[in-house]
Amino acid sequence: MARQVRSICIVGGGTAGWLTAGIIAARHTCAAAAALEITLVESETIGIVGVGEGTWPTMRTTLKKIGVSETDFFRECNVSFKQGAKFARWVTGDESDFYYHPLMLPEGFPSLDLAPYWMKYSAAHPDAPSFSNAVCFQEAVCELGLAPKLITSPEYSGVANYAYHLDAGRFATFIRRHCIKNFGIRHIVDEVTAVVKNDAGDIDYVQTGKSGRVGGDLFIDCSGFRSLLLGEALGVPFVDCGDVLFIDRALAVQVPYDDEQSEIAPHTLATAQKHGWIWDIGLQSRRGVGYVFSSNHTATDAALEELRSYLGERHRDLQPREIKMTAGHRQTFWKGNCVAIGLSGGFLEPLEASALVLIELSADLIGAMMPATRETMDIVARRFNETTRYRWRRIIDFLKLHYILSRRTDSKFWIENRDPAGIPESLREQMELWRYRAPGDQDFMTHCEMFPAASYQYVLFGMGFRMDVDNIPPGNTAGAERAFKQNMALKSKWTRALPKNRALIDKIKTLGLQRI
Ligand SMILES: Cc1cc2nc3c(=O)[nH]c(=O)nc-3n(C[C@H](O)[C@H](O)[C@H](O)COP(=O)(O)OP(=O)(O)OC[C@H]3O[C@@H](n4cnc5c(N)ncnc54)[C@H](O)[C@@H]3O)c2cc1C
Repeated sequence: MARQVRSICIVGGGTAGWLTAGIIAARHTCAAAAALEITLVESETIGIVGVGEGTWPTMRTTLKKIGVSETDFFRECNVSFKQGAKFARWVTGDESDFYYHPLMLPEGFPSLDLAPYWMKYSAAHPDAPSFSNAVCFQEAVCELGLAPKLITSPEYSGVANYAYHLDAGRFATFIRRHCIKNFGIRHIVDEVTAVVKNDAGDIDYVQTGKSGRVGGDLFIDCSGFRSLLLGEALGVPFVDCGDVLFIDRALAVQVPYDDEQSEIAPHTLATAQKHGWIWDIGLQSRRGVGYVFSSNHTATDAALEELRSYLGERHRDLQPREIKMTAGHRQTFWKGNCVAIGLSGGFLEPLEASALVLIELSADLIGAMMPATRETMDIVARRFNETTRYRWRRIIDFLKLHYILSRRTDSKFWIENRDPAGIPESLREQMELWRYRAPGDQDFMTHCEMFPAASYQYVLFGMGFRMDVDNIPPGNTAGAERAFKQNMALKSKWTRALPKNRALIDKIKTLGLQRI
């Protein structure tokens, strides 16, 4: 007799737990014939990590899929628009040093690749616009503090591509409420005190403090850094990536605005410091700021001083919270009848906000490949592991790229980041090829890619990477000129037509967006 998969037990009620519950439930619990029963157990006392305020545009699709109204989301989660990241002081460390990684593709991409044309032009014209400015209008929109859409744009659609900045604590509560109300998820507030396995080595049930045993055919470990099920109970080792990515500490703090009408930056600001970098995220009612640094290169007290100097005298009394992390991931993500999502699967510095999107993608993949029986689960697990391992490798490469192109020499942190021994072979190979042609879709061959070729272009050329212009073929110059002009026209149009970020958010809160 085949052992059918009918019930899922999720341990952990942070963003990972509730997003996973919602994504799987939206796909499965509505189809009556194939109904899955989902139980989520979370501890009231342990709490959630409570950071993680920057998302990818994928969050729009996720929220839409699970039936959340974008207007409600703005009203309840302190949300603002995010249109990319501005990296300040990463290349030389000077005050004027910055580049953008916007969320929109370069004009005409991928059928037309403007990179070689821009490269040739800028080699001959030192006053040429930056790459992102020449090929995309979003940097100009961000610099002016504008929103990516109009009040007449329906929910989840925009003039410019966008993601969100959100309050992590409020978001977990919001998604929890939505999931319980709409998907009938069984919610147990209790602490898991033991994980009990059967003779085959699968998890049989989790023992809770007051609510007894909670069983399941599939267990999803969303227990955070501790990795209670996959790491502790099933003994899956942790692969430390600290030799490649050095960041292992965060000092996080919530910073009040000067007044209620202060501008809300429509992008994440990532400012390089001596031993790491500071994120600065504007929400509706406050900023979320944090210094992520390497404890092998500086002490917490010194890092705190760097953070205080960034925040200014006015905010000297704020008390940042210290969080310890280890860069890396589990050797395998799905073992037996248990799969880890979120921090229980691993952690990498939040430089490109890659954690929440990985939760969305992983939950989506589990939902799509949901094994019908325990007998077929190992096949699904193997495929899930291959895809997820690949995704982690791609994220590691992309994050490391931000460090190897820096020319900063003000600390060992930056110098050691460029040591060839710490650069993954896969990234080194790409860098060799990209000396002669820009990153293209052919460099990223699977449908499981995390970052499109355009993202590599923004970072490479934003950080001053030069291609060998003598070897660039002539190509479609007329087409490229048209595309550059089109970008200029769009920039001129939208920098005049789009509202200020705060003005639109205020309007959404009072009037609401057109529901879809
Ligand atoms: C400094 C920092 C900055 C970050 N910034 C970003 C960002 O900008 N963008 C981004 O995408 N990601 C970011 N992340 C990552 C992001 O915060 C996490 O991926 C996300 O919050 C998911 O966390 P989680 O749900 O896995 O874990 P947690 O939030 O830690 O939740 C763990 C859950 O497990 C429960 N639990 C634990 N033990 C037990 C037990 N014994 N019994 C019952 N329940 C238990 C807890 O109660 C809790 O509900 C950042 C992370 C850090 C550390």
